[in-house]
Amino acid sequence: MVYTLPKLPYAYDALEPVIDAKTMEIHHTKHHQAYLDKLNKALEKHPELQKKKVEELLKDINKVPEDIRTAVRNHGGGHYNHSLFWQILSPENQEDFIGAVSKGLKESFSDLKNFDEFKNKFEEAAMSRFGSGWVWLVVNKDKKIELITTANQDCPLMEGRIPILGLDVWEHAYYLSYQNKRNEYVQKWWKIINWKKVDELYLTALKGKEFSA
Ligand code: MN
Repeated sequence: MVYTLPKLPYAYDALEPVIDAKTMEIHHTKHHQAYLDKLNKALEKHPELQKKKVEELLKDINKVPEDIRTAVRNHGGGHYNHSLFWQILSPENQEDFIGAVSKGLKESFSDLKNFDEFKNKFEEAAMSRFGSGWVWLVVNKDKKIELITTANQDCPLMEGRIPILGLDVWEHAYYLSYQNKRNEYVQKWWKIINWKKVDELYLTALKGKEFSA
């Protein structure tokens, strides 16, 4: 088995003006594809691992043979993270939390007064991630939602956390429209989150299951 590029659930221009069509097309067909190509290439050395789902490889990253562990971490992480990212975006404007995840967030961030305070906290995390990486909402082992960031393509699954929402803050995700203004990208990004999907992933994560790439 080789890992293949998933189709997007919307057109490349569907997320405009928040994310422009050219950025989406390059991000999907070039960047995501490159992670897949390099993951598939690495696994040629250990064909027995090709049968596994990428999320299984990441959850047990320390069991992946050492000669390809870094490649699986970077490119398997890249494949998984992007597969999830495409799903939690939507052209429908859903600026507010909905469903069970709304309640979960209120419980997990009980020190915050409202959605705007939560957004500020998230944006600060996005701005403080130096260089390339991701900002995440994850469900931890205590079933609480945490806000974390990871470097490069590191996936929260590698440390036993289940991601339910991720924001790609690599420059390739926003540079054509926003250049050095990562903060504008993050602020506008709230308009294109698919909270229905995040809610579904949250309920799945409470049962100990992760998104399947
Ligand atoms: Mn990316």
